Amino acid sequence: MSQNEIEESLNLLEKDWVVDPILRKFMLGKVTDVSDYPLKVRDVIFHVPYLNSEKKFILWKCFWPDCHNCCDRQGRLPLTSDDLITIGKGLKYQKSSDFIKNETLTVTYQEPGPSGQLTTMTTVNLKRKKDETEADDGTHISCRFLDEKGGCSMHPDRPGVCYLYPFSSWLENEKGNVRVHATYQFTGDCPGFYLADTLDPMKDEFKDYSKTIYDYNMASNRTNREGFGSVSFS
Ligand code: SF4
Ligand code: SF4
Repeated sequence: MSQNEIEESLNLLEKDWVVDPILRKFMLGKVTDVSDYPLKVRDVIFHVPYLNSEKKFILWKCFWPDCHNCCDRQGRLPLTSDDLITIGKGLKYQKSSDFIKNETLTVTYQEPGPSGQLTTMTTVNLKRKKDETEADDGTHISCRFLDEKGGCSMHPDRPGVCYLYPFSSWLENEKGNVRVHATYQFTGDCPGFYLADTLDPMKDEFKDYSKTIYDYNMASNRTNREGFGSVSFS
């Protein structure tokens, strides 16, 4: 996501929410004296940004149901293999192949990895509007499953990626064992970030999200969970 897009999102966000000016600067890449504070919570290592100049951590809490920005401004909804089954059934499809044909789009795109390197991804994405096409991928679309009360009509069988927001996560090989890492996505769409002196105010969120993030990674990377390596022939 470019800085211009983040700025546009922040400008929209500020129509309804107060955004800390220091956080605004940070999200626009204008605060550079930042340390990564790794925090292990159960099976996940969270990377929490620490602003050295302010001596503060960036923490997060969710304002739902007062906010549903993430459902209004989703860029795409990639599905895990578990999602294909549960959401297909939830939408009353008998066959996953029919669900995939009618309700999803397969898209290839570039995504920055944790250290900024670009990775090419191909994912099967849930259509956020009935007539979504490849050209809509990555653009902000209000999701068709968002109801008038700001809830998700698919809940609890919504895509795993919806449970993950605003975190992003990745796997690393730690001496032969899989280790799940997570950090925040700063898209400028979420009003839930705030500055704090300690990590304590976010204790509960770290615990809850540790399980959600771990399960999501295991659902999208089955071979790791089952203990098989993947093989590439080159
Ligand atoms: S945008 Fe942030 S605060 Fe709003 S519902 Fe989504 S996660 Fe919660
Ligand atoms: S599927 Fe549900 S939770 Fe996910 S973006 Fe749509 S309305 Fe929001």
